[in-house]
Amino acid sequence: MAQLLLSKEVNAPIKAAQKERCERLRKNGVIPTLGIIRAGGSPEDDAYIAGIERVFGSVGIEVTVFESAPGAGTDEVLKTVKEVGGRKDIHAMLLLKPLPRGLDERAISDAIPREKDADAVSELLVPAAYLGKTDGFLPCTAAAVMRILDHYGIDPAGKRAVVVGRSMVVGKPAAMLLLSRNATVTICHSKTQNLPGICREADIIVAAAGVRGLLGRDCFAPGQTVIDAGINIDENGKLCGDVCFEEAEPIVKAITPVPGGVGGVTTVILAGAVLDAAEKTLKE
Ligand code: NAD
Repeated sequence: MAQLLLSKEVNAPIKAAQKERCERLRKNGVIPTLGIIRAGGSPEDDAYIAGIERVFGSVGIEVTVFESAPGAGTDEVLKTVKEVGGRKDIHAMLLLKPLPRGLDERAISDAIPREKDADAVSELLVPAAYLGKTDGFLPCTAAAVMRILDHYGIDPAGKRAVVVGRSMVVGKPAAMLLLSRNATVTICHSKTQNLPGICREADIIVAAAGVRGLLGRDCFAPGQTVIDAGINIDENGKLCGDVCFEEAEPIVKAITPVPGGVGGVTTVILAGAVLDAAEKTLKE
């Protein structure tokens, strides 16, 4: 049986410290608040928002969702991002991705002010992960992957890591953070040939494709650590990852479940970013 890598274990020490930070801010008249920009209506977004609201509520951070009307164009979403970016009562912002087709994701990401860019999506903050930076805002899911490995003492140095997915928000930054910790990294994507063969060679697999059940039995080998960042909804409305958990778990050494793995840690990393941003306003 594989060891389960659980968000509740990773988060326990972090959340206690975050509650104290939140209380200190509130005593000083600052109510730490995240503004979520939502331009689409996917059920995966619903699950992500619900998770954020639950965790933030327990820490003491407020959440406000700014939802664009269905079919809104780039200009309309940009207007919302700029308005929210200018509000003093919103300390940090999260743009839910992927955006609906046709929207200019780069322009919308770049409109988020640097000091509020909790998920490091704007052009100004993208280089952080590529420079191997460990302070300041980093893409939260990629940072969560690293936090899980660190919590369980899994050192990527010298290991073969395979990241499945090459998006700017999860796959690429996760690959860069692993590289900065001296893993030998392979990035797979929708055009990769022989995905199972490449995965079987890995010591660490990070799944971030957003394709339910993409990684099945033939992708795994004994001794592997499997980190599943995928968030998908199955036909019964149940949350699931990119990894067939039932097929991987009997083979590998350690694995994150979905839910209960990467998503939960991502949310706590995001909470930390909101508190960082709110504390900066206090100093100012
Ligand atoms: P995306 O659609 O932008 O990127 C998906 C990537 O997967 C692409 O690079 C694509 O090439 C690759 N891919 C798609 N099909 C593939 C296939 N058959 N074989 C190999 N690679 C394939 O998605 P994203 O925004 O990077 O999100 C990826 C997943 O991570 C989604 O499930 C998303 O919901 C999830 N996510 C999780 C968290 C979290 O906190 N756990 C946060 C953000 C996103």
